[in-house]
Amino acid sequence: MSAIIATLDLEGVFIPEIWINVAEKTGIEELKLTTRDIPDYDELMQKRLGILDEHGITLPQIQEVIATLEPLHGAKDMLNWLKAKFEVIILSDTFYEFSYPLMKQLDFPTLFCHSLEVDSAGKITNYKLRMPDQKREAVKALKSINFNVIASGDSYNDTTMLMEADAGILFCPPQNVIDEFPQFPVANSYEEQRTEFEKAAAKLQ
Ligand SMILES: [Mg+2]
Repeated sequence: MSAIIATLDLEGVFIPEIWINVAEKTGIEELKLTTRDIPDYDELMQKRLGILDEHGITLPQIQEVIATLEPLHGAKDMLNWLKAKFEVIILSDTFYEFSYPLMKQLDFPTLFCHSLEVDSAGKITNYKLRMPDQKREAVKALKSINFNVIASGDSYNDTTMLMEADAGILFCPPQNVIDEFPQFPVANSYEEQRTEFEKAAAKLQ
């Protein structure tokens, strides 16, 4: 069997959207803004950090909210299925400081993401992208050391990763992503995602 790495997005694939849930649980509606409202990621993040500061919300408070969340139903079984068949790396645009409580519930799969800068009072002062377009760059790097890569994600920020991979699978994507990227098969459940992974892997043998 050839060496295949499965790279998957995190939010919307294995866990719920973190910012949306933080917005709901804190009652701060403005935190629901996404890249669909503010396409520039830096502008969006600065806005989010400003809102947190305005409301005096610290990282430990956000972590408390995140700790009440659970992975999506069936996520852990899906991950275990993937781990038995492939090497698995989660490529996410979230931050280690946010993902920890949820990764713990998933038995800490390998995660490449970004990090936050926090002061001694727990205030998030900035965020640090490890590098731009890291999902695509990770896939490119894995291919350069002779792995085949099958990638799966739900959203716009996954599409460069899907295009770079040997095979890409959309998982429960919004309609506009389906319309814009018709080249990728769509899985609307973990069962369908397993089937698509099997099909992609068979083609790579
Ligand atoms: Mg996502």
